[in-house]
Amino acid sequence: MKRAVWLTLPAWFWILSGNCRLSAQNLVITNARIIIGNGTVIDRGSIVIRNGRLASVAAGTPNVSAVETIDAHGMTAMPGFIDGHRHVNTGPSEKQQMQELLDAGYTTVLSGGGPAEGNLSLKEHIDKGLIKGPRIIPSGRVELANNTPEKARAEVRALAAQGIKFVGEMALTPKPGPTAKELENLRAIVDESKKVNVWVQIHAVSPQAMMAAVDAGVIKLVHTPHFGWLAQEDAQRVASAGVMQLSTIGFGVPVFGVFANDNKPRFRDGKPWPEAILDGEGRGREAGYKAVNARTSWDAGVVYGYGTDTNYQPKAGLEHELKSLNLMFSMQDIIKLMGPNTASYIEMSDQLGTLEAGKLADIVVLDGNPLEGYWNMLRTKLTIKGGVIVSNQR
Ligand SMILES: [Zn+2]
Repeated sequence: MKRAVWLTLPAWFWILSGNCRLSAQNLVITNARIIIGNGTVIDRGSIVIRNGRLASVAAGTPNVSAVETIDAHGMTAMPGFIDGHRHVNTGPSEKQQMQELLDAGYTTVLSGGGPAEGNLSLKEHIDKGLIKGPRIIPSGRVELANNTPEKARAEVRALAAQGIKFVGEMALTPKPGPTAKELENLRAIVDESKKVNVWVQIHAVSPQAMMAAVDAGVIKLVHTPHFGWLAQEDAQRVASAGVMQLSTIGFGVPVFGVFANDNKPRFRDGKPWPEAILDGEGRGREAGYKAVNARTSWDAGVVYGYGTDTNYQPKAGLEHELKSLNLMFSMQDIIKLMGPNTASYIEMSDQLGTLEAGKLADIVVLDGNPLEGYWNMLRTKLTIKGGVIVSNQR
């Protein structure tokens, strides 16, 4: 039987204005366990995707026709993974690197640094469809230590003019804490960023640097500090300032089986652990600081999100960050942290982070139930970005 299709006036305008991407299929996923990301789990439900967005997410089977229906019996659908801080840039192997990210389940990545131009061309290659890849949020860098407030302000304005929304990869001296000059420049950068609608992100790797950044008005921190313990009162001050912080919790934790299969502990750059840990204090105690400080931030109410600050193989990096997080956080916590909290960090809460109608259809379909263990978040079957299947490992 033929069914009449009624479109609302705004829908026609949307199609006629050329916003309708033909590649975004109408897709229905049925029989899936659905982790919405806001605490709700649907044991067996369906997701209807139309024009790249979530049209409905509900229990049962919907009565709709679709180009493609996926029976996800035994599988789980959850929001596509977002890395709020990963080092990606354009280059000769970008095609493979971007596919590896999609295969691991990442649908959005905030580029952690590198030249803004490189970030922008990578984004362009993906947006134009030259290569497949996650949604890239480009960032740019402003020099902190060797700069003047006036020059720093000009650099912020120049990045904003290029369309950059995040200024990142700026590190404060961790010990004994930032210099007066760094802080003077940082205050100028924060002040200028507000005028041109740009977010400032800081690598604050000691509690002192973290508190100095917060006092300078920074509300986005890409790290959990790892030089000493974060005091509860300080964490509460961070929370009340509305700060969002990313994990990078695996920083001091040894990596195995990625750079060589020799059962030797390695730092994230492949060099021997713990010697290669950046400014390490010895015996890899950073692993302990990070884990405890992460929970201190979380318990104080800081919006704590997910970031790896890595550039090695995405799935191995995912596993490493998840297992490190799992030391201090439940799977429910990890799902909140990766979904809504990281979406807040990248300022895309209205579009991403949960599987709710109206949001972008960024979904990862996994074999098994992530609530039973983080290892089930590594069993990627499908990655869907904006309603398009960008990785199929079924
Ligand atoms: Zn970084």
